[in-house]
Amino acid sequence: MNGAADPGLPPKRYVDGDDGHPQLVCDEREWLARPAPWGIGVLPPGVRGRKQRLFDHHHYPRLLRHIACEVCRPLVCGLFAEDGVLVPEVIPGDDARFNRWYTDHHGKQFCDGKPFLKQVRLWRTEVITDSELLNRLIDTTFNLVEKHGLPRQARTDAERSLAVELAGPNPFRPVAFDPSWQTDTTLSLAHGMYDSRDFSPMPILADALQDAGCDHPDVLAHCRDPQVTHVRGCWVVDLVLGKT
Ligand SMILES: [Zn+2]
Ligand SMILES: [Zn+2]
Repeated sequence: MNGAADPGLPPKRYVDGDDGHPQLVCDEREWLARPAPWGIGVLPPGVRGRKQRLFDHHHYPRLLRHIACEVCRPLVCGLFAEDGVLVPEVIPGDDARFNRWYTDHHGKQFCDGKPFLKQVRLWRTEVITDSELLNRLIDTTFNLVEKHGLPRQARTDAERSLAVELAGPNPFRPVAFDPSWQTDTTLSLAHGMYDSRDFSPMPILADALQDAGCDHPDVLAHCRDPQVTHVRGCWVVDLVLGKT
């Protein structure tokens, strides 16, 4: 891909975001025409909520595995925690300590992780806010990805399937979950998968849901689709657990 517009995508639309920056959006019609055209960030804030943080948690570390440095990679990947950016204590905030810490690990060698850690240092000294830190980490991730020349299409496909896994086929109209589908069996299966992050029992969950009277085609199909990679935040598991 050479960056040409994808013919399957609707034209991009922006509104003014909370921070005064233009925010890319999509509506239900656009989402259904092509689910998650640009990941999950296009959903209204009330719809994406916790799912946005889970998206960041799953998506960016996947791109950041291209940081070669053994010292920085786990630190940088660890910044994208499940419930928002988490800054490890080990990254010093003041310049002198940061430079000493960096030189101890890298000598005179520059590494791909440094631009990320510099953003953390700015955040620690309150030059930038939490949301600026996140935006800058994401921008820095894209710069890194460009530098490594990762194919754009592969990235977009991964982004879209993760967004649908988290938000469901139509986040504008969430599935009405019947409380009678929450049985001891479905709850224990869902809890087990959520806690262990082992989603191999998803087809068993489909059977248990069906036993409980669930006949929703999207729910059952999602559990049984062997092509889906489930992660913590899977829309069906969350539905069973009552998480939004
Ligand atoms: Zn490094
Ligand atoms: Zn799933």
